[in-house]
Amino acid sequence: MLKMRINIHDNYQQVIERIATVAINAGRKPDDIHLVVVTKTQPIDVMQAVIDAGATNLGENYVEEAIPKIDRITKTEYLKWHMVGHVQSRKALAVCKYFQYLHSLDSLKLAERLSINAVEMNKIIPVMLEVNVGGEDSKSGWDISNDENWFSIFPDIDKIIVLPGLNLLGVMTIPPYFTDPEASRPYYRRLRKFKDFISKHYKISGFNDLSMGMSSDYEVAIQEGSTWVRIGQAILGPRSR
Ligand SMILES: *Cc1c(COP(=O)(O)O)cnc(C)c1O
Repeated sequence: MLKMRINIHDNYQQVIERIATVAINAGRKPDDIHLVVVTKTQPIDVMQAVIDAGATNLGENYVEEAIPKIDRITKTEYLKWHMVGHVQSRKALAVCKYFQYLHSLDSLKLAERLSINAVEMNKIIPVMLEVNVGGEDSKSGWDISNDENWFSIFPDIDKIIVLPGLNLLGVMTIPPYFTDPEASRPYYRRLRKFKDFISKHYKISGFNDLSMGMSSDYEVAIQEGSTWVRIGQAILGPRSR
């Protein structure tokens, strides 16, 4: 137990330092990059260890798995929960109740349900639009793999930006997986280009975020402008899924 605790602490510190170094080398401010520690499949003691190491943003990708864990972790003013996985619209209420951020808003239907629930709870949920940069069938979100289709997303965005329960912070993606982190770069560039395209056509205040970068490629993502990196295994060790 003690050994595990020390490892997670060291891993967490190393990732924090790496983020800062990569940011500075890219001419960016380290504070502009936020770290979400993705704790999916991890048990409570591992989650508590990374919180003890200083983590304040924890991410989960299944609502049903996350709720009992969130209930068991001691709440503090600083601890924020991020939903990063696909959410069925009938789970919108649970997301509003348990999470402070949604990185994976992937449909108009989910947006509408979330907004209704948020308004009822007197909340505004910060969200990011999930887009599919590689056009893969296995990935959620609006397909932005072909620039010519970008305008076709406007009707959904028109409706989402006026929803009173949501605050649109930016965009998120998961690129196709390659072992070489450099292979992610064109996808992260594409995400940034898409964000700039949306910013040009809509004046959404606070629409600045790019949620991109995981254990294998967060350095590249930071070089390409990421503001939220979502990291699991590099801090918590390998997992089965
Ligand atoms: C699991 C997951 C991550 C973290 O992946 P690691 O390889 O463990 O860093 C990031 N984002 C999403 C959406 C995930 O599901």
